[in-house]
Amino acid sequence: MANTFEVAVFAGDGIGPEITAPTVEILRRMADASDAYSLTFTDAAAGAAHYAKTGESLPESSMVAAKRADAILLSAMGLPDVRYPDGTEISPQIDLRKALTLFAGVRPVTVKAGQRTPLNMPEGKEIDFVLIRESTEGLFHTQGCGEVTENEARETLLITREISEKLFKFTFELAQSRKKAGRGKGRVTCVDKANVFRAFAFFRDMFDAEAAKHPELTADHAYVDATALWMVQKPWDFDVMVTENMFGDILSDLGAGLMGGLGLAPSADIGLENAVFQPCHGSAPDIAGQGVANPMAMILSAAMMLDWLGINNDNAGMIADGKRLREAVEDVVAEGRVLTRDLGGSAGTAEAASAVLDALFVS
Ligand code: ATP
Repeated sequence: MANTFEVAVFAGDGIGPEITAPTVEILRRMADASDAYSLTFTDAAAGAAHYAKTGESLPESSMVAAKRADAILLSAMGLPDVRYPDGTEISPQIDLRKALTLFAGVRPVTVKAGQRTPLNMPEGKEIDFVLIRESTEGLFHTQGCGEVTENEARETLLITREISEKLFKFTFELAQSRKKAGRGKGRVTCVDKANVFRAFAFFRDMFDAEAAKHPELTADHAYVDATALWMVQKPWDFDVMVTENMFGDILSDLGAGLMGGLGLAPSADIGLENAVFQPCHGSAPDIAGQGVANPMAMILSAAMMLDWLGINNDNAGMIADGKRLREAVEDVVAEGRVLTRDLGGSAGTAEAASAVLDALFVS
């Protein structure tokens, strides 16, 4: 199998370029030190600043680069003051998600011993679960084209067999690979509202059909409202959760809150052919250009990228490097010596990124 991988890099807007540069540098250093794989990087222009300059938010050449690449690394896009003529925000990441049918939004939530969290963690407990948010349909189906009259507004929730079956297959495979890696208990939870909406009973039936193919895993169901409660009361019980787009949108921010904020929340949007790896946060224009942005969510997204490429290409060296990179970030954060302002520290972006490099190469 080939072991050279092309990464399309969207440096994006606001703090995007500031967190992209050190992340790419870390990936370069890791690939240079490995004989299991090498990486090439192709810069792809897109975003609000690019739109303001050229009138295009996602040029065709960038779309071609994204489709051709083995993986896509994206920081954040959009600026509050730059909008399309109809007033909507520039969000090429959503266009990419739709164009490449990236149905599985993967949001890991981890809180290691010693890490700051708003929860009172019982002694010996750590949080390590993954929330999978369906990312192409659900209540976002009519995004931007809901009907509004003087007295009524209507949006449509769409759940399709085509996407749901792919989503659940992906979910159970992820639970399997976590269990194999010794990270999860092999439990998959379908989060829905099947007691109220027929669409969610349909969703749940397809989940159950996939669960039946995986007797080695435990499958169960939870209503979304109860899930929000349990994510605060006993988040350490979860392993892999899968849910509809809007429910996932809300619960993944709750997950980021458990980790102490958006600066530590990575994500991946994965389809059958392509995948985008990007932090959960936006372009943070309020702190852009100051060198104080937290690069950790972006670096953790890059670790997810190595892991995904490694699993898909049967490359144990990449899987190991993905884990090594994630653990380097977790160690730096748990030690609490080098924390950026959003985590209560005073380190800048460069200092935080070098602490990760030190954890990888010096210690
Ligand atoms: P979007 O709608 O594009 O997701 P948003 O309006 O929800 O964006 P963000 O851009 O994510 O907001 O910023 C929310 C707050 O979090 C801001 O105060 C921002 O400065 C802060 N923030 C976001 N990302 C980071 C980061 N990497 N480091 C430090 N602070 C951050």
